[in-house]
Order: sequence, then C-alpha cells, then structure tokens
Amino acid sequence: MSRVLVIGCGGVANVAIRKCCQVSEVFTELCIASRTKSKCDALAAELAGKTATKITTAQVDADKVEEVVALIKSYQPDLVMNIALPYQDLTIMDACLECGVNYMDTANYEPEDIEEPEWKAAYEKRCKEKGFSAYFDYTWQWAYREKFEKAGLTALLGCGFDPGVTQAYCAYAKKHEFDTIDTIDILDCNGGDHGYPFATNFNPEVNLREVSAPGSYWEDGHWVEIPPMTIKREYDFDQVGMKDMYLLHHEEIESLAENIPEVKRIRFFMTFGQSYLTHMKCLENVGMLSTTPIEFEGRQIVPIKFLKALLPDPASLGPRTHGKTNIGCIFTGKKDGKDKTYYIYNVCDHQECYKEVASQAISYTTGVPAMCGALMLLTGKWTEKGVHTVEEFDPDPFLDALDKYGLPRSENHNPVLVD
Ligand code: NDP
Repeated sequence: MSRVLVIGCGGVANVAIRKCCQVSEVFTELCIASRTKSKCDALAAELAGKTATKITTAQVDADKVEEVVALIKSYQPDLVMNIALPYQDLTIMDACLECGVNYMDTANYEPEDIEEPEWKAAYEKRCKEKGFSAYFDYTWQWAYREKFEKAGLTALLGCGFDPGVTQAYCAYAKKHEFDTIDTIDILDCNGGDHGYPFATNFNPEVNLREVSAPGSYWEDGHWVEIPPMTIKREYDFDQVGMKDMYLLHHEEIESLAENIPEVKRIRFFMTFGQSYLTHMKCLENVGMLSTTPIEFEGRQIVPIKFLKALLPDPASLGPRTHGKTNIGCIFTGKKDGKDKTYYIYNVCDHQECYKEVASQAISYTTGVPAMCGALMLLTGKWTEKGVHTVEEFDPDPFLDALDKYGLPRSENHNPVLVD
C-alpha cells in the first residue's frame, strides 16, 4: 500500500507509470505531475478502468522548489519518482528533504544553463581535479548525502538501465561471481531501426549532449579522457549481431570506481550507426548542438532546443522501431584464486515493448528499472538511508524483479572480451 508521486510524463515516465499500474498491490495510488498537465491527463484517461491503481494528475514546474513542496504537502506521497529531466534533480531533492519524503531518479544532475557562473566555476574546478569534462557528474547529488542520512531518508540515484541495471549487474558479479573484479566493460547496443535517417531514442537534448561529449574511462585510479568517438570496437551481440560501438563517458563509471575500488579499468561502449554519427557531426559543425542562446529575428533561441522541436518525438518511435537492444556488462577478475570472465546482459525487443506499453525499448529499458527501484524502496528491500547509487544495494531482489517484470537477465561464462 503506497502513494507515489511521479514527476515527468515523457517517454520513460509513460513506461514506468504503466508498469507501476501492473503492480497495483504496491502502487495503490499514483499522482502523475508534469509541466504539461494535459499529457498526464491523457495517460490517466488511457489507464482508467485498466488498473486498480488510483491515479490523479497535477501540474508542476519542478524547476521551482516551492511548487514541488506544495504538491508533496498536498499529496503526501511515500516516494517521489523524478522522471523529468536531469535539470530538475536538485530542486526535487530539496523539496523531498523539506517534506521528509524518499526520492529517486534515472539520471544524474546536469544544469540546463551551462553558462550559469556558479555552476561553471564548480564545473571547471571539477574538470581539473577529476580529469573528465562531461557536464554531468555525481558531485552535486553526493553533496546531499549527509542531509538525507540525517533526515532518515533515502535518495536512489540513476535507477534506469544504464545507469541503474548495469550497476546492479556489477553488484551481482561482485556478490556471486568474483572475489575481485579487475575490469568492467559496459556494452550498450541498440540494434533497433526506426526508419528515420536521424532521431534520438530519448530526450534529444540530453542524448546529444551525452554523445557529443569527449569519451573517458577509468584506469588505474584515474580518468583517461579522449576526443569524442575516437575509440571504436566491433562486437557480435547476442540476438542482434555485429555492431560498431564507441567509447563514451558515462555516469555509472564514476560511482563504480568509488564503490568497487579494486577495479583496474571501467569502460562504457555504445553502438551507433554511420548515419547517426554523420548527422550528429554535421549538426555539431553547424552549431545546432549548442546550448548557448543566439539572437534570431528579434528573439533568443537555443539551437539544440530548436533542433529538438524539429526531430521526431522519441515517444513517437515506438510503432516504427524494429529490432532488439542488448545491454550488459563483461567482467574479468578472480574467483578462488583463478582467473575468470563473466557477461550478464538483457536483450529487449522493440516491438514486444510496443505491444505491451506502447513504447520502444529505450524507454522500456529505463522505465521498468525505475518501477523496480521504486518497488525495492516501497517494499522495504532497500532501506539504506542517505544518497546511494544502485550498486550500493542488494542486487538480488532487484534483478529478480527485473526478471519478472520484463527485463530478464542472460549470462555467459565464456564471453568474447573487448580488446
Ligand atoms: P522526455 O523529454 O520524453 O520527458 C521529460 C518529461 O519531463 C516531460 O514530460 C517534460 O514535460 C517533463 N519536464 C521537463 N521539465 C520539467 C519541469 N521543469 N517540471 C516538470 N516537468 C518537467 O524525457 P525521457 O522520458 O526520454 O527521459 C526522462 C529521464 O530519463 C531523463 O532524465 C533522461 O536523462 C533519463 N534517461 C535515463 C536512462 C537510463 O538508462 N538511466 C536512459 C534514458 C533516459 P513537458 O511535456 O512539458 O516537456
């Protein structure tokens, strides 16, 4: 029995909410709140009569702490699921602290305005100290650790697939397969085809910022940064086939390096087709990926926001996307004094997802773990107070829930390694 406030009603939230409604015995009441209330109302209307979960809706601008506080005070939830954008992480965490309620999200904080002087100064300092230059990092949310702990509250960070399930895979490998882990390669393969020359599978602004940033990996206790898309490998993915993949910076590397300190190297690879890369390079070269406002015909526009308006809405890709995703982690390390390797991954079919929740697999592979993470918090399986990433919790009940609710694991004890 619980009341949950979901903030955001985009592609990922749509899946998470539909999945929560499949587990009505836990998610007894849901409030869907977002900037555009009509989207919440449309989803609530679609679900009416199909679930025992009691759904209400609300309008909220989650950039404003006071609006989130007022909503939490009136709805009195047991948990706030932030499935809006990374820009709202801190304001929603502040509101949760003020109201004494648990918090979770699916992506770590980054600011919408990267020119904001206070953020920029902290960012430049962090780039020098840590050695990677992605806009997002855990510093901002880890700064809330003591406050959440003192308040007796839990903040669960980054509970999608990657970050999220990939960290649970690491915790599982550490708990069951290895005494010590030497290397972790996280491989994110999208073998889906939506038929458009160029579209992003989730929020275009967040996605394009991520993939156009320099790549980096963790090796021997420090970050190694490389120019974007300069380390390329080929890998033959189960049920997808041979794909080109590129080394990217990714947020879970940062927390894994801290929580599994013996690991010598952690890398993250994502597959991209040539058409996607050519379009992205061209858009970058002409300035369309810029987040800095420009003056255009008497008004200020942000190029990447304008681009977002032109690109297909990720939520509309569902019916057209065919193929599968394959996301997982390959480990090397030692068990009982012997070298061993291990690969744990999930394969997800875009069309199967569409049939079940009217969405493609990228939103599905993020929304299902968000629901399962909420389930862990609401059913008392994960109770640690403070601010935590997924690998800090017991992976077993979470992976069992993923097996049950649509993202079953596959294992390989003799995988091909990435050189
Ligand atoms: P969408 O752009 O589809 O949806 C974002 C939603 O947030 C929209 O409903 C939007 O409202 C709402 N929103 C934006 N700003 C505000 C605000 N100020 N106040 C209230 N609501 C707001 O994004 P996705 O669903 O694709 O992504 C959701 C999150 O999931 C992102 O943080 C993304 O980074 C993360 N993600 C994580 C992954 C993982 O594996 N961990 C993978 C993919 C995504 P409106 O309709 O008005 O625009």
